Amino acid sequence: NSTPSINELDASKLVFTRNLSPHAVPEPDSPEVWTQSKCSDHMVTCQWTSTGGWAAPHLQPYGPLQLMPTASVLHYATECFEGLKFYRGHDLKLRLFRPTRNTQRMLNSATRISLPAFDPDELQKLIETLVAVDGEKWLPKSRPGTFLYLRPTMIATAAALGVQKPKEALLYIMACCFPSFDTPGGTAGPSGNVRQQSSKARPGLKLLASKEDTVRAWPGGFGYAKVGANYGPSLIAQGEAKARGFDQVLWLLGEDCDVTEAGASNFFVVWRTGEGKLQLVTAPLDDKIILDGVTRRSVLELARERLGGELEIIERKYTMSEVENAAEEGRLLEAFATGTAFFIASVGSIHFRGKDLRIPMSEGVTGKYAAILKTHLANIMYGREDHEWGVVV
Ligand code: PMP
Repeated sequence: NSTPSINELDASKLVFTRNLSPHAVPEPDSPEVWTQSKCSDHMVTCQWTSTGGWAAPHLQPYGPLQLMPTASVLHYATECFEGLKFYRGHDLKLRLFRPTRNTQRMLNSATRISLPAFDPDELQKLIETLVAVDGEKWLPKSRPGTFLYLRPTMIATAAALGVQKPKEALLYIMACCFPSFDTPGGTAGPSGNVRQQSSKARPGLKLLASKEDTVRAWPGGFGYAKVGANYGPSLIAQGEAKARGFDQVLWLLGEDCDVTEAGASNFFVVWRTGEGKLQLVTAPLDDKIILDGVTRRSVLELARERLGGELEIIERKYTMSEVENAAEEGRLLEAFATGTAFFIASVGSIHFRGKDLRIPMSEGVTGKYAAILKTHLANIMYGREDHEWGVVV
């Protein structure tokens, strides 16, 4: 009477069904790319059940999923996802950027929403397989300096309306064409990321500070997890901000108006303290309010390593009145938002309690430190700098 074994996620069991009707690759930044719905020829799928564990992963033609209308995810938001890119380097190699951070975060998010656990290394192997199969065609060597956006996703699929822990799940990974955002301005990209818009250059993003009755994440909640349930409910505030001519919401929390995130991005300020110290400041992770952004972490680590001589790097709670005081006393030098989708975007103003706080940007459309950090990171992503964060596929 041995109990049936529960299978682990195992990339080596992958079954490949080639797409026999492959699609044409759109031109970079063509209107089709701006729809953010154009995916490559294949996707990875993998089924899980509570009784059998993970089935063999399948690399198959990209296409619709089949779900019963009673599937858990369609009712109870039992879903989590990731967002990372793969890049065609200037050395013509294909690279992921710190994929282990995304696969570990996906496991953390899955755990928060009661979806099944898996070995993050196996997820990374599945991601690399998709990149290896579709990368040559979808990021041709003739287009160095381009990228595709990867979206690993997990949903609870069991067909039953009871509110219960997932008994069946589907993991899937697709690679999506995505516009490049090298000039400022901004609206909302996938999942509300602040994104930069093409031509009309404007000096930085215009942020609207959230109202006291509008909260993105709260103590004891799930703001730190990349679960779909964090994003749909933020769309009202984002829509209001856009209707009023702002690019994104700056999410504040609590009576003291702690500064947390901007849109679906982490948020940094560079200011001079009253004592004259130059600091790079962002909100801390320990309250589990904000997402442990890969770009955030990379900015902090690079700034400590390469700008530590001139900047103090600080992760701490800080409030809107500190930002307001710094702006009014001419001590606020820069603010920027960071995330995979739009990278690093300088902020030009924050509207808070009827006032516009203007943020100077010494270098025009990108602040000095934002520009330096952007260059360091882009050099790693596109292989101009050989670095352990750039993982060649
Ligand atoms: N905060 C939130 C809420 C996000 O959804 C994202 C995008 N994943 C980020 C921050 C930025 O994280 P990353 O740098 O890993 O893209």
